[in-house]
Amino acid sequence: MRDLREFYIGGRWVAASSNAEHVMVDPSTEQTTGSISLANASDVDAAVAAANAAFPAWSATAPAERIAVVERIQEVYARRSEEMALAISEEMGAPIDLARTRQAPAALRHMKNFLAAMTDFEFVRPLAPHAPDDRILMEPIGAVGMITPWNWPMSQVALKVIPALLAGCTMVLKPSEFAPLSSALLAEIIDEAGVPAGVFNLVQGDGATAGARLVEHPHVTMISFTGSTGAGASVLKGAADSFKRVALELGGKGANLIFADADDEAVERGVRACMMNSGQSCNAPTRMLVERPFYEEAVEKARQVAETVTVGPSREEGAHIGPVVNGRQYERVQALIEKGMDEGARLVAGGPGRPAGFNRGFFVQPTVFADVSNDMTIAREEIFGPVLSIIPFEDEEHALQIANDTPYGLTNYVQSADGERRNRMAKGLRSGMVEMNGQPRGAGSPFGGVRHSGGGREGGTWGIEEYLVVKSVSGWG
Ligand code: NAD
Repeated sequence: MRDLREFYIGGRWVAASSNAEHVMVDPSTEQTTGSISLANASDVDAAVAAANAAFPAWSATAPAERIAVVERIQEVYARRSEEMALAISEEMGAPIDLARTRQAPAALRHMKNFLAAMTDFEFVRPLAPHAPDDRILMEPIGAVGMITPWNWPMSQVALKVIPALLAGCTMVLKPSEFAPLSSALLAEIIDEAGVPAGVFNLVQGDGATAGARLVEHPHVTMISFTGSTGAGASVLKGAADSFKRVALELGGKGANLIFADADDEAVERGVRACMMNSGQSCNAPTRMLVERPFYEEAVEKARQVAETVTVGPSREEGAHIGPVVNGRQYERVQALIEKGMDEGARLVAGGPGRPAGFNRGFFVQPTVFADVSNDMTIAREEIFGPVLSIIPFEDEEHALQIANDTPYGLTNYVQSADGERRNRMAKGLRSGMVEMNGQPRGAGSPFGGVRHSGGGREGGTWGIEEYLVVKSVSGWG
């Protein structure tokens, strides 16, 4: 049993001041593995005070000093990455190989990309030749509150903590109560790397108490939030009275447009991307839109691929998918699969209940629905489980109309051999990101959405600028 009773505040581990706790459950076995203390308002206030006390000195450091600090974090993190993979796998159920190859290394990748963005980042910029004595100063915004989810826990945390450090901000991180171990380990790493006391602070807690206190706190100048769209709306409202900057990274319902001239791997790639991390990715391509002449062939291919996706416990090595994170999520995914059947979608793989051979654990069958219409619940709601919906389309205009008929707008995908068509689709899709023909977006490109997916941008230069305010100065000497 593991019990986390302390928070990292002002460079020290300090005892929680309340008895409230969250019980940790292994998603593969449903057994209790320990508990964490939940921060109350006074714990959050102490962390915010530490972040504000550290701000004047940290914001005045030279960028080179902050770069050196992040390089030390990078070294310690790389050395402890196996511990990080184990922590992530234990807390949210990612299979250990996924945790080792994707989940834990994501933070190192972000560090590398942010350090690269810093090499020519200008904190003092000229305006233009017509105003030679003007300068634009890019200044750290202040003490930042950071609230993160459990699904890619260290990726999400690193996308906030690292650019904020590089920008010269101080911070209070409140990770998901369903992913406390990875952030506790990150606090140890940051401590070992010698980050000055108070620059980074960690409280564990839930959204209703610790999260809400951070959001409304008068001495927090910005909230960076990643999580569900519903919680994002509460954050926006809660931050209004104190006029905080709010950066939101929310849910998605990505469309994957597969034209009849797509490459042979397109359907398989789409199914695997949807199922990866047990379907628990905000940018998962969960609506597969297929051009009519290729539709039945694609449905059959998707069925075959889904049937090769194996499910297994998180501690077992291998390329299987793990359980979903908790009982509430399991019930929600089951209810949505039932709803898909009730609303008339054609079940072609998987279905309700656990996969064969499992009588406990939050395991979901890799499920594919065909003949989905875009007004069905499974096409509208973010399911966050290994469930794919396939929808036919007639032509480009119809594909765009279906893809854009959603309140979300995070990542959409296009598969076609025709470059001009791909470009037309990329322009017509309403989303923050478009990935085409299986090509990942480049290192340092901005991650973020539009509309109900939130408008924040994380990663690279954009991710650093999120933590800076623009000061416009004339008469610069
Ligand atoms: P969630 O909204 O339940 O919780 C996210 C975080 O917010 C947690 O730390 C939680 O404690 C906190 N929280 C919840 N309600 C709050 C409130 N009212 N005030 C302040 N804090 C609150 O989401 P989750 O289930 O942890 O994560 C899954 C969601 O995150 C999915 O919708 C997914 O799409 C989204 N997500 C988005 C991105 C992105 O970059 N766009 C990345 C990963 C996950």
